[in-house]
Amino acid sequence: MTGLVAQLTSRISFCAAHRLYREDFSEEYNRELYGPCTTDHGHNYVIEATVSGRIDPETGMVLNLVQLERFLHEEIFEHVDHRHLNRDVPFLKGVIPTAENLAVIFWQRLVGRLVPFKGARMHCLRVQEMPGSEVCYFGEA
Ligand SMILES: [Zn+2]
Repeated sequence: MTGLVAQLTSRISFCAAHRLYREDFSEEYNRELYGPCTTDHGHNYVIEATVSGRIDPETGMVLNLVQLERFLHEEIFEHVDHRHLNRDVPFLKGVIPTAENLAVIFWQRLVGRLVPFKGARMHCLRVQEMPGSEVCYFGEA
């Protein structure tokens, strides 16, 4: 990539319920792994998508920030807000909805929307379940 490079970040929040539990693990092992998260509970999630790319000298933008925010709404918010992540979201079927897994799947949903924007690529997808800690996914190693 040549030229001037910038990162854009767009942030959304949503409320959802989930449970961390594997049917094929014993009750004790589930509790050991996931602690109190083995039972239904909710979070006020904050999701941040950071896109990096070359600043187009003609438009002065990497990507229109309004568009990035729209992608977050269409690919994530509309499907998960006020839902139970284990039961109500088809694209999360069979996935243990840890913050890590959500970050990977949300990344995968957004990356396709960036294809038309040649200089832009996903840099990081952050998932915060509660203030003070978050998961950052940077794509495949
Ligand atoms: Zn939780």
